[in-house]
Amino acid sequence: MQSLEELDLYFMKQALREAEKAFFEKEVPVGAVLVHQNKIIAKGHNQVELLKDATAHAEILTLTAGSAALGDWRLTDATLYCTLEPCLMCAGAMLSCRLKRLVWAAEDLRLGANGSWIDIFQERHPFHQISVTKHILKAESALLLKEFFQKRRKEKALLTSLKNDY
Ligand code: ZN
Repeated sequence: MQSLEELDLYFMKQALREAEKAFFEKEVPVGAVLVHQNKIIAKGHNQVELLKDATAHAEILTLTAGSAALGDWRLTDATLYCTLEPCLMCAGAMLSCRLKRLVWAAEDLRLGANGSWIDIFQERHPFHQISVTKHILKAESALLLKEFFQKRRKEKALLTSLKNDY
């Protein structure tokens, strides 16, 4: 029997794999997995660029796939592992589906709705509270994001210098 800490590490690694998929698809690298009875029932990664949809965050796609897998919009017995602190939209979706537990990795300093920008889970919700664990594999997730934005800046600079050559 594995401890909760070991399980959290294992499932967050799977979420990081999803984030890596996003990285290679030139999407901001955020990944998520949804776990029910110690099994992954849904995975997802950010697809905002591909779907040209600002709501296509890893968490939303994973919650939607998880509800489809369970045949129930209520996720009262599920844990979502995500490589990034949720934004306000995703935090709202987690409350709407009555998510049992959220585990996240790196802070989103600009948009994070669990302490960085605002802390929505600090507010008492009329009928649901989510149990939260933060900073599991925080450094790994933050590094992937940093690499992504550095690469993107370099590519932009290269494009600009190429344009200037003509
Ligand atoms: Zn979000």
